[in-house]
Formats: sequence, structure tokens, C-alpha cells
Amino acid sequence: MLSDLVDLVLPASCALCHRPAGPLCPDCRRAVDDCLHPSPRLALPSPLPPGMPSCWVSGEASGALRAVVTAYKDENRRDLRQTLGAWLAPAMRAALGDSAPALRAMRGRGLVVVPVPGSPRARRRRGDVPLMPLVTSAVVGLGGCVVVADVLSATRVTRDQSTLDAGERASNLAGAMAVRARHRPSLEGAVCVVVDDLVTTGATLAEAARALREAGAGEVLSAAIGATRKRAGPVRTFP
Ligand SMILES: [Zn+2]
Repeated sequence: MLSDLVDLVLPASCALCHRPAGPLCPDCRRAVDDCLHPSPRLALPSPLPPGMPSCWVSGEASGALRAVVTAYKDENRRDLRQTLGAWLAPAMRAALGDSAPALRAMRGRGLVVVPVPGSPRARRRRGDVPLMPLVTSAVVGLGGCVVVADVLSATRVTRDQSTLDAGERASNLAGAMAVRARHRPSLEGAVCVVVDDLVTTGATLAEAARALREAGAGEVLSAAIGATRKRAGPVRTFP
């Protein structure tokens, strides 16, 4: 609310080049457009982590797209929430369109959309969970019954993932997430969509899905804004 008011008074600068045209100037927006696929694709990390749910992404997690996500999460550019939400939305629609159980859930008991939990260290540093408002923005307009719920928590301290390879990430995250006790009853048989911002090895999505299935989720899908190029195959596109 406060940032919305400040934006009315002080036009924001571009989050990438800092020229006075926010939250992204036309040039930087075009640079991001070059990272977005014409239609969402399935992310296919290699090797595929055991148990990773099928994951649809809207673009390639590189260059300008990665820089915008970093600006949103770590440079206090929360005014990019709707911009990023609009880039996540096509991947979410593709994930749902690919899943009959998800469409049934949206017409019935409700689809549970679950942002991956940040590490406790990241939560402390940022003071909030930046994925939450982004995901909430992305689900507007999906239609049907959709609930965004922060049901997962980190169970222990994990190492910074950025310097780890696929095998190290998997062991770093094994058993690192759990469903909060108060949410367990509502997850029994539920259809869940795990959402992350960018996918690298898929280890985070695999661990989130493991925790949800362990808590009784009936079906787990996933979606993200982007995936790293060498791991996002053009094998299937949507529709
Ligand atoms: Zn710019």
C-alpha cells in the first residue's frame, strides 16, 4: 500500500537500467521479452531429480529475466510484483491445462498453490517472503477455486544453493521441507501446484513435492517464471 502511494508521487526508475521509467523501461522490457518463450515449455533438468513434478515455465532464466527477479527479491523492487506475476501466469495456465485433476480441483474442493519456502536465512535477510505476493498476483484471473497457501516450511538450515551442482543441491535439500502441522488436514488428497521463481536443477521443486506428497497431497504439479536454458528443453510446448 505504502509503496503504491510512493509510486504515485515518485515515478519509479527502471529496475535494470535505472532510467526514469519504472518499473521497467521499454528497452529493458524488450530485453526480457527476448527471454520469454512464445508459449510455455516444460522444464526438463538433466539429470531429472527423482520425484520432480512436471514443471511448466514461461521463459529462460538468464540475462534480463534473471536480473528482474533479482531486483524484485533482493533489491527491494517489490513494484515488479505484477510484472513478474504476469510472466508467471502463462506457465501456471499451461500446468493447469495439462492436468485433468487440477481442472477438476478448481471446479470442486479447490486447487492449492504453494510457493516454495525460502531458507530461514533468506527470510531473515529479506524480512518477508517475496514469492507470496508474486504468486498471488499470478493466480488472479485463473478462474475457479484457487487458494494460495504458505504451507511449507524449512525444517533445517541448508547451504547456499548457488555454488552447488545438481547432486549437491539434491543432498543439501533432502528432507529440508515439511508441511506446517496446521495445514496437513487440508492437504489430504489435494491437488497442489508448487511455484518457484526460477528453476535450475529442479532440486527445490522435487523436495517441495516430496513434502507435499508425504503430507497426503494427491497430485503435485509445478510452474515457474523461467528455467535455465540447458535444462529447459523445447520438447513440449503449450498448447
Ligand atoms: Zn531500463
